Amino acid sequence: MLTQSILSQLEKIAGRDGVRSSPEDLAVYGYDGTFEESRPGVVLLPRTTGQVSQIVEVAVAQRIPIVARGMGSGLAAGSVPSRGGIALATTRMNRILEIDAANAVVRAEAGVVTADLQTAVENLGWFYPPDPSSLRHATVGGNIACNAGGPRCLKYGVTGDYVLGLTVVLANGRILHTGGKCIKDVVGFDLNALFTGSEGTLCVITEAVLRLIALPKFFRTALAEFVSLDGAARTVDSILAAGIVPAALELMDETAIACVEEAMHLGLPLDAEAVLLIETDGADEESVSREIEAAAGICRKRGARRVRVAGDEAERASLWQARRSVSPALGRKAPNKLGEDITVPRSAIPEVIRRLKAISGKYGLPVVIFGHAGDGNLHPNILFDKRDPGQWKKVGQMVKEEFSAALDLGGTLSGEHGVGAFKRPYLEKALGPVSIEIQKRIKQALDPLNILNPGKIFPD
Ligand SMILES: Cc1cc2nc3c(=O)[nH]c(=O)nc-3n(C[C@H](O)[C@H](O)[C@H](O)COP(=O)(O)OP(=O)(O)OC[C@H]3O[C@@H](n4cnc5c(N)ncnc54)[C@H](O)[C@@H]3O)c2cc1C
Repeated sequence: MLTQSILSQLEKIAGRDGVRSSPEDLAVYGYDGTFEESRPGVVLLPRTTGQVSQIVEVAVAQRIPIVARGMGSGLAAGSVPSRGGIALATTRMNRILEIDAANAVVRAEAGVVTADLQTAVENLGWFYPPDPSSLRHATVGGNIACNAGGPRCLKYGVTGDYVLGLTVVLANGRILHTGGKCIKDVVGFDLNALFTGSEGTLCVITEAVLRLIALPKFFRTALAEFVSLDGAARTVDSILAAGIVPAALELMDETAIACVEEAMHLGLPLDAEAVLLIETDGADEESVSREIEAAAGICRKRGARRVRVAGDEAERASLWQARRSVSPALGRKAPNKLGEDITVPRSAIPEVIRRLKAISGKYGLPVVIFGHAGDGNLHPNILFDKRDPGQWKKVGQMVKEEFSAALDLGGTLSGEHGVGAFKRPYLEKALGPVSIEIQKRIKQALDPLNILNPGKIFPD
């Protein structure tokens, strides 16, 4: 219970402008990128790790839940404060503290916007690859907490592959520094890996040391149009089997294409059943061009009716704008969407797409398919109207069948969005009882009072 005396304590820590409790503020911080909603009791906007630590101490003493929050772009209801309490937003902890060129690392506070971090390092010739499509409205801390991915993961890996060190506040308020600037460090358990992807349930991340690599100098981007979705899906495997490692290999189906084209007028083909967006990159112009031509050739051989290679940076930017706009553009088709994040071994992509289409046909609701096909990570989005109880009931069944399809094919529930509140009921099926038990024990050891983001990840 947030009494006036507790609010005064919190105000002393975070400052008067760091405590928000108007109905408008509570409403804004009660959402994320889904349709889920639950308001916090208070919103706190600390500026330092020390302040976060003191806030956690107050929360522990008073048994108040704390939900860490970046920019609330999550797609699993992870930052929705389902049990009220404190919404602790890191958006004022947004300083890039150091770009250490000699060691190729950047040290940043958790609330830095991902795109800002990328721009800052790119200006100095460095590259921070993790690129969730939400990169302009997501934070580095949120990306670490979800182990975010993005189109470039196929070649460059996920956020966790770049985390060298963290500063975190534990559930008792203690501050812990893990790792550092060393590329190799195998002393003790890998706590960076434990906290990466922990979705606010084990700690509040306040700072990170992130690995950088050399900025690729050349890019070639192509859009291949297919008359059949199955043909596009099969081509993904053919490109990778040929030894080409594109920086990105993205799939959009016809509904995704239509929604983006209606919203943005980018000249996308409205009569194609699917498109593949392929990008190659590297330090050598000739080999980057050779790879895109080889990928384009494979697309043609596998039935692409047209392959357009972007002629200049503006055309490349427009193709990427199309891909990054899919998720928001789906709002044009239906009042609600439920976007999943299943991943399958890449050889199973054609089969999982067939099964997703069958689920859509069975229940009569559209399932839009797009995503990072190159690494088997698809975002089937069910379009529906939540006000219609009949549709809402069907959505529950459809999600269950989507997850079953992924698991049957040797896949998993989430490639990058995390479990949050939405996937909890399916966790046991995905991980099995032994894994769940171990993970619950870790949670219990680090957060015995269940203060940090209760009601997330674990089934009740
Ligand atoms: C249009 C759109 C496109 C997207 N595309 C992608 C994509 O390509 N790839 C991808 O991976 N995701 C994608 N996402 C999902 C989302 O942007 C990512 O999950 C992102 O990492 C969330 O960052 P955030 O700062 O908004 O975190 P939030 O949504 O605020 O929080 C997400 C989770 O992280 C926890 N958390 C946040 N900050 C901290 C912290 N400092 N310490 C501890 N826990 C914390 C929260 O408690 C919550 O559980 C997309 C979302 C949208 C809306």
